[in-house]
Amino acid sequence: MLTDSHAHLDDARFNEDRDAVLQRAWDGVVRRIRTIGNGSGPDQMGCGIPIAEAHDWVYTSVGIHPHDASKVVERHYDLIEKLSAHPRVLAIGETGLDYYYDNSPRDVQREVFRRHLLLSQKLRLPVIIHTRDADEDTEELLRETPPAGGVIHCFTSGEKLAKHALEVGLQISFSGIVTFPKSQTLAQIAREIPSDCFLVETDCPYLAPVPHRGERNEPAFVADTARFIATLRDISVERIAEATSANFLRLFASKSS
Ligand SMILES: [Zn+2]
Ligand SMILES: [Zn+2]
Repeated sequence: MLTDSHAHLDDARFNEDRDAVLQRAWDGVVRRIRTIGNGSGPDQMGCGIPIAEAHDWVYTSVGIHPHDASKVVERHYDLIEKLSAHPRVLAIGETGLDYYYDNSPRDVQREVFRRHLLLSQKLRLPVIIHTRDADEDTEELLRETPPAGGVIHCFTSGEKLAKHALEVGLQISFSGIVTFPKSQTLAQIAREIPSDCFLVETDCPYLAPVPHRGERNEPAFVADTARFIATLRDISVERIAEATSANFLRLFASKSS
């Protein structure tokens, strides 16, 4: 059984056929999905809750994407606290730093990320971290304010951050990017990382893995990423599925069993 640790099922691109998408995932032996609670901005962070309530194998999170950091006001942190008490909310995020798009000023992104890390400590909930072109600042913030566990999702960073993440007990999650021919450093990390330290995800509707590249991504395609990593490590896809599902459960144990 597979676990898609990171999906955006609230995305409008699923409005026409969300139930069929979930059915295809189930038919592809995906038995757990976490849909991310960011929505189109901080006021929509509860977007995953109705989807999780309607499907007992779907979980969610709440938080503010770094793209939306400049829209944050104090009451949004209260909203994270309030919504995270929901039994299907497994984590805080995704949050983090995106210096590739720079949709919000970097100092604001850092402050919003820091507040999520503090909430992770306070609420004892793991954090889902998005980081792009910001390895150094991500590592520094994680050192200053270590969260209560978590994952660096859609990992595209270098070996140094990968190493630091594992040292502080974070997991790394691989998306379809690892299947792209240019992702050689990433493939190397996926080949060598200990089997109890990583997850797989789609980050759908974005980033469909080979052989679906360019299509709308969906949770069923997490199987292609798992298969690719299995080939890299010269083991069966079943073992990847088993290990990544066990890692997900261990990381989010308090609420996902
Ligand atoms: Zn992300
Ligand atoms: Zn995402």
